[in-house]
Amino acid sequence: MPLLLRTRLTIWYALTLAVILTASGVFWYWLLNRNLNQHIDDHMVQFAEGILALEQVRQPSPPYLPVVSGERCRQVNLYLQQAGQGEYITLLNPNGETICRSTNLGDNQLPFNPEIHLAAYRGEKVVSDIEVDTLGHLRVLNFPLHLDRNLIGIVQVAADLKGLADTMQHLAWILLTFSPLALLAITFGGWMLAGRALAPVDRLTRTMRKINAGNLDQRLPVEAESEEIARLASTFNDMLSRLNNSFARVKQFSGDASHELRTPLTILKGETEVALRWAKTTEEYQNALVSNMDEIRRMERIIEDLLMLAKSDAGEIPVEKKELSLSDLVQELYLQGRALSESKQLDINLQLEVDHEIMIKGDELRLRQMFLNLISNAVKYTPEGGRVDILLGLDGDRAVVTVRDTGFGIPKEHLPHIFDRFYRIDEARNRSAGGAGLGLAIVKWIVDAHDGEINITSTVGAGSSFAVSIPLEGPEKPSRITIR
Ligand code: ADP
Repeated sequence: MPLLLRTRLTIWYALTLAVILTASGVFWYWLLNRNLNQHIDDHMVQFAEGILALEQVRQPSPPYLPVVSGERCRQVNLYLQQAGQGEYITLLNPNGETICRSTNLGDNQLPFNPEIHLAAYRGEKVVSDIEVDTLGHLRVLNFPLHLDRNLIGIVQVAADLKGLADTMQHLAWILLTFSPLALLAITFGGWMLAGRALAPVDRLTRTMRKINAGNLDQRLPVEAESEEIARLASTFNDMLSRLNNSFARVKQFSGDASHELRTPLTILKGETEVALRWAKTTEEYQNALVSNMDEIRRMERIIEDLLMLAKSDAGEIPVEKKELSLSDLVQELYLQGRALSESKQLDINLQLEVDHEIMIKGDELRLRQMFLNLISNAVKYTPEGGRVDILLGLDGDRAVVTVRDTGFGIPKEHLPHIFDRFYRIDEARNRSAGGAGLGLAIVKWIVDAHDGEINITSTVGAGSSFAVSIPLEGPEKPSRITIR
């Protein structure tokens, strides 16, 4: 199982902090140790220079022992008493023989070897750390004394390192004790902080868990305290809105579809029952079957339209665009319109506003279906004696086909919805006319597929006009609906 983000953040935080604490602890330990050693060295050099400044010390040294007495040693010990801080002093003659030892050294001897001797001839100071049984840990400075480029002696100053070792030990103890404690405290702080920072995510998760298909109208609180979380919440809210809309559309669609199919089915069932019970003659049976056939055709049409829309949604209906004559197509449609309107005695007219043939690129089958839907609507929704005009013209680089009628017209409030599936203005009126409210949805899809536009003008009681414009050529543009 993956670790919680909070745990992961805290672990990273603690590890980073541990590395920083260790590195800084080591650095400060090293720096202090170096500075203290440097301080001791500087002090010993100063002290050695003080000793070498003594008059007696600068006298040429006789190569003999013992060494703890005499005027030279007295001065050294006196200087040690006045200016020293417990250092040990040895004076050596140029041969490396001890000519004076400070009284605090007792019988102990500070180390001297040919390497130090050679360095003294070269005028170099040598510093080394040594361990002397009775005196402990010492730092020894070997300081050569030159006069007129000649080595006249060497002074050895040794400082006790116990104080330094104690200080460093103390520091190490502090670092080793307090660093883990600080690390623990800061890690705990980090854990709390991560918890606080991630609390809005927890709250969002809890709210999100409660949202399902039944309450898609719920929204997440957009908290202002963190921009990232606010952005996440509002993005999720947008997604919920889209989901809610499509859920509502699917619900509406399936409700409408089943309603539309149930009505003819009920009629079919009723008429069949009546025929079975009451019909006696062949003619009566025939009448019932003819009536049934009407309902079956109606259902067939609805199912075909639905299938087509579903396929168009899934992009499964290919639109094969070929060059075709819109002028020829419109004339054929006019003839079909005349046949449709015959029973209603409508005055149907064709007006070609240009004297040349208009060519477009399109799928003839689909365009025919679209214009027929518009023409059959005009016929359906225009009362007897009315007039339907089919006009073909040009508007810039677009061909425009207008289907105009003197029918019932469409009230303004319905105009934005008439392209919705199953949307009908007056159910009773439409049912008798035979529409399921899918015709204009199909029109819209075909216009879209041809990069066209559809403009509707309608006045209640006076009539409607549907103008479809399709580009003659040129770049593709998204379709647009204009309602006036
Ligand atoms: P239907 O199959 O019911 O005709 P459509 O999708 O073709 O469905 O049309 C949707 C609704 O728009 C119709 O129910 C009708 O009320 C209205 N409508 C469409 N065309 C016209 C028109 N030419 N005149 C008046 N109303 C119309």
